[in-house]
Amino acid sequence: MQPRYDVAIIGGGMAGLIAGLYLQSAGRRTVILEHGRQVGGNMSGIWRDGFYFDCGDQSMESFGILFPILDELGLYHPEDWIDIKWRMVTPDCEVPLGTYDQVRADFKRCFPASAVELDAWFDHLLPMVNWYPTFMDAHARTITGRGLVRTKAHVKLLSSIVLQAATLKGFLTRSASELAERIFKTDPRLRFLFGDYGYPNLPLMVAATFWYTFIYDYHYPRAGIQGLMNMLADAYRQRGGEIRLRSTVNMLKTSGKMVKGLVTSRDEYIEAAQFINTGNPKRLVAEMLDDPTAWDYRDRQEILKNEVTVGNTAAYLGLDMSTAELLPRLKDHHTVYWRSYETARDIYDPDLHRKGWSMISATSLFLPALAPEGKNSIVVQIYTPYAWMDDWGTHAHDPFTRTPEYKALKEKVLADIIADTEYVIPGIAGRVVYRELATPRSLARWTLNADGNPMGWSLDAYSSKMARRHMRIRTPLTNLRNAGHYALCPGGVITAAMTGRMAGRALAR
Ligand SMILES: Cc1cc2nc3c(=O)[nH]c(=O)nc-3n(C[C@H](O)[C@H](O)[C@H](O)COP(=O)(O)OP(=O)(O)OC[C@H]3O[C@@H](n4cnc5c(N)ncnc54)[C@H](O)[C@@H]3O)c2cc1C
Repeated sequence: MQPRYDVAIIGGGMAGLIAGLYLQSAGRRTVILEHGRQVGGNMSGIWRDGFYFDCGDQSMESFGILFPILDELGLYHPEDWIDIKWRMVTPDCEVPLGTYDQVRADFKRCFPASAVELDAWFDHLLPMVNWYPTFMDAHARTITGRGLVRTKAHVKLLSSIVLQAATLKGFLTRSASELAERIFKTDPRLRFLFGDYGYPNLPLMVAATFWYTFIYDYHYPRAGIQGLMNMLADAYRQRGGEIRLRSTVNMLKTSGKMVKGLVTSRDEYIEAAQFINTGNPKRLVAEMLDDPTAWDYRDRQEILKNEVTVGNTAAYLGLDMSTAELLPRLKDHHTVYWRSYETARDIYDPDLHRKGWSMISATSLFLPALAPEGKNSIVVQIYTPYAWMDDWGTHAHDPFTRTPEYKALKEKVLADIIADTEYVIPGIAGRVVYRELATPRSLARWTLNADGNPMGWSLDAYSSKMARRHMRIRTPLTNLRNAGHYALCPGGVITAAMTGRMAGRALAR
């Protein structure tokens, strides 16, 4: 007997929804099983007392990938998006990320003794920064172009990669910190600022991409990120797709190297011909296989050992502060504020959460509908590993464990974040009318991502095997594919969208 579904998709985040949209557009019968009470995963948002807050991702790049994919699906409407800007604030400077030349000039003004070194840094990045528009343009046409236009775009993309090969090699085989060490001999502050992005040993390629996208290619949906994800879910349903919320897949029933069906937390058994997993692969290989031997042993061990990106903690703050008051303080959608020139990595350091960067996202500053009239929503994110203070005072790895110590620690961290944000938003402490803290444990509960990680596998060029192994779309189970931020390096929104498209198109044939 034919199974009810052609494809069952585990997870309703960006990857699952994009895969589902491609499949439904091709007339396949699909179902998305989602653990959460809403779609979105790491791109979820919540409304509280009229304030909107993004829970994970705070904005996104297109990079010749996201918008073309939405366009191909008939879901890209430029008027639904705003272009957003970033600003960097340190104890010594304030640099809006307006244009590449202006950023370089501003840093030289702040650190005049290191002007030559700063030129060397920006000059080194220039060949990549100048190449990205060519790459993005050709890549976009490989998605949206048809017939000869698409073929020509593929040729252009390939030839531009070949011509760029030597530069690419240098950027792929070196880390940002190595280059910063070599260039910034005199000022340790610059060595830190340009070499450490909160992710240890970040490949120079990813750092260069940050320097391009932060300046030229960041966008925010007018309806908030949850609004974007709801729009994708609505379009998927309109094309006949089915979404089951609060349906956690707990088991894959296998027969040999084939998946036969899924068992959900609602005790439902769902049969399909093909399956796509966009959820946490560690949980998949450790807990979800009815027969673990169906999956290659070495591969399973590697997945279990491999590190993931370090989690964030977020303060959701509703401010009784009008846009007229907040704008001169925040100026741009994102402010990355380096509270000190260090990234604390000692998980037993009780002050770890007050060191290094904090990112302030002014969710409603340019979109007043995302907060009550005359007020504003902001999200302040800081770096804090999942294991900090013995698993956030819970003494348990399981994210569902909560203790009074955890609650007290959350209160303290929230108060500290508000106090530290005073540097950028003077007077904030007396103006907070809604406050809530989400830890990496919260994100782990909401999305089941290992250690509440934001972007999939670790970006560390040295320690992450997966980061170097690239494509993991196929699995040892012949009718199960991966998509999402674990499936391709580096993780993130565009990776999720791209792998969702790859998996969806492959199974639509
Ligand atoms: C704070 C933060 C900032 C970020 N900033 C950026 C950025 O600037 N740029 C960028 O590109 N990316 C950024 N990201 C990363 C980006 O948001 C993610 O990489 C992307 O959203 C991943 O999408 P996904 O569909 O692969 O996975 P997810 O969003 O994790 O979606 C997977 C879904 O599957 C569900 N699920 C998991 N297991 C099961 C199961 N067994 N059964 C049923 N459902 C299941 C989960 O609930 C979830 O909804 C950020 C993330 C965070 C958290």
